[in-house]
Amino acid sequence: MSAGRFAPSPSADLHIGNLRTAVLAWLFARSTGRRFLLRVDDLDDRTFTEIGHRQVADLEAIGLTWDAEPEWQSQHPDRYSAAIEQLSQAGLLYECYCSRKDIAQAPRAPHAPQGAYPGTCRDLTDDQRQVRRAETGRPPALRLRTDVITYTVRDLLHGDYTGIVDDFVVRRGDGVPAYNLAVVVDDAAQGVDQVVRGDDLLPSSPRQAYLARMLGHAEPTYAHVALVLNEDGARLAKRDGAVTLAEIGVSRALEQISASLGWRATDVDGMLAEFDPALLPRQPWIYQPH
Ligand code: GLU
Repeated sequence: MSAGRFAPSPSADLHIGNLRTAVLAWLFARSTGRRFLLRVDDLDDRTFTEIGHRQVADLEAIGLTWDAEPEWQSQHPDRYSAAIEQLSQAGLLYECYCSRKDIAQAPRAPHAPQGAYPGTCRDLTDDQRQVRRAETGRPPALRLRTDVITYTVRDLLHGDYTGIVDDFVVRRGDGVPAYNLAVVVDDAAQGVDQVVRGDDLLPSSPRQAYLARMLGHAEPTYAHVALVLNEDGARLAKRDGAVTLAEIGVSRALEQISASLGWRATDVDGMLAEFDPALLPRQPWIYQPH
C-alpha cells in the first residue's frame, strides 16, 4: 500500500521549520489517501536516541498520526547490506580510496559538473587497487558505477528537476551505509512512494531516484517544500531564539505553521481541510521568534 513519510535525523530537537515540513508531509499523504510513516534516520547519530524519542513525541504532540511503529534505521543493518550485495553482484560498485583532499585536488575534465566525483578510482586495475589499499591503510568507501551524468526527477512543486548523478558513495569507509543508499532502501522497504521534505534535499533526489531504479524499485513522487529561514535569510537554527516545540508551545506552533501557509486552522485536521498543494507558497517562510 502506498505511503508518505517523515524521516528526521536525531541530531537536534525539531525546530518549527522541521515541524512544518512534517505537517506538510502528513498533509500530502493524508490528502492522497496514503498511509503515513515515521522513520528516525539515526545511522549517523546512533547515540542520539533520546533526541529521536523527543522528535517522535513532538510530532505526536502537534497531532500527527502514523500507521505503524516508528522505524529506526540502526535497527535493520541487514537491509542495507542486502542492497549493497545486490549492487555488488550486478558489478555496479567499486572501492574508492580517495580522501576528501584527494577529491578536491584531482584533475577534472573541463566540463565536469561541480561537486561530482572525478572518477579517480573508477577504472583502476586489480594491481593498482592492491597498491592503493596498502597505501591508504584505511578501509575503502564503495561507490556506485553510474552510466549517466545527470538524471531528471519530477517534483510536484518544482516540476522537472535535473541534477548531477556522479559515482556517489553508497557505503562509507567506516562501513556505515551512506545517506543516499539508506533512504532509498528504507523507502522501498516501507512501501513509501511519496517523499515530501525540505528543498535543501532536492539536489539529492536525482541520485536517489537513479539508485532506486538500479535496485529495481519504482521512483517515488517527490515534493520538496520551501524551507524556513531566519530574519537574516539563513537557515533557522537553535541560536535564533525560541524555535523548538518546548520553547514555542503546541498551540502557538500550530498557529504559526498554519498562518505561514495562509490558513486559519489551528489543528492539523483543520489544515487538511484547507490543504491544496497547488496553492502552497513557493517562497521560504521567514520565521520571527519572539
Ligand atoms: N534524515 C534526513 C534529514 O533529516 C532526511 C531524509 C529524507 O527525507 O530523505 O536530513
